[in-house]
Amino acid sequence: MKDIVIPKTYNYVALFLALDCNYRCSYCINYFENGRFNGEFISGEGWVGALNRIVSRDDLPITLQGGEPSLHKDFIYILNNTKPELKIDILTNIQFDVDEFIKLVKPERLRRKSPYASIRVSYHPEVMRLDETLLKVMKMQDAGFSIGIWGVMHPLYKDIILEAQDRAGKMGIDFRTKEFLGDYDNSLYGAYKYEGACNRGFRKKCLCKTTELIIGPTGLVYRCHGDLYEGRKPVGSIFDTEFELEDVFRPCDWFGHCNPCDIKVKTNRFQQFGHTSVEVKDAQN
Ligand code: SF4
Ligand code: SF4
Repeated sequence: MKDIVIPKTYNYVALFLALDCNYRCSYCINYFENGRFNGEFISGEGWVGALNRIVSRDDLPITLQGGEPSLHKDFIYILNNTKPELKIDILTNIQFDVDEFIKLVKPERLRRKSPYASIRVSYHPEVMRLDETLLKVMKMQDAGFSIGIWGVMHPLYKDIILEAQDRAGKMGIDFRTKEFLGDYDNSLYGAYKYEGACNRGFRKKCLCKTTELIIGPTGLVYRCHGDLYEGRKPVGSIFDTEFELEDVFRPCDWFGHCNPCDIKVKTNRFQQFGHTSVEVKDAQN
């Protein structure tokens, strides 16, 4: 089996362990256009075999996310059996049993040199209780985990998020905010590099190059988040023994129906602002 070497130009590696969630937030970016959760899973052993082929850098972890990654029945097995040299981060809504997690997972498994926490908890006031969230995060922090909370600055919840940030700060919890991306009140929120790319007002052909490895819940690899959520054609599978990553422009005929995650101007893993996940060129009708 070939190693899967992450190109130097890549900034992010995402494994969508479960494209499934225990919640259904009104602004969930997974549903931006026609996206739907499909509830498909690969066994823990299967994932460990595939992940252990990946050769990455110390500053480029594999981020387990979803949906909610802890819904994968072998979530803890995957954490504990993936090779230690592969760094792991988690994006979660922390609806798992934190006592069990603390008992079974060593904090070092999820610790690395980084300007932000390895376990990033999303706080969604629409569906989550703040007291419970703070308590769980505090428990994990006291147990030695690198953990913080992120709140989305949705126009409806801005004030609640800022209040939550204040309370978390008083408890010594790192609480950061992130820009709201998506539609609200007939406006598209977010700063995007390519005009109209996320407006769904046109559909053009283009060439597109990514800086992210996007692995879906069945091991299929996609050009971008939009392709994953919308069920468009994958570029390969992590379970293909010959699979290798190419740092190339690929033809796409969905420009104009891009997902905000791919086009948004954002902060890269060094917390430097101005990064965009994909580069688009030669757009034409
Ligand atoms: S918790 Fe996250 S993944 Fe789940 S519905 Fe809400 S925004 Fe989507
Ligand atoms: S142009 Fe948009 S839809 Fe096409 S691959 Fe790039 S990000 Fe994805």
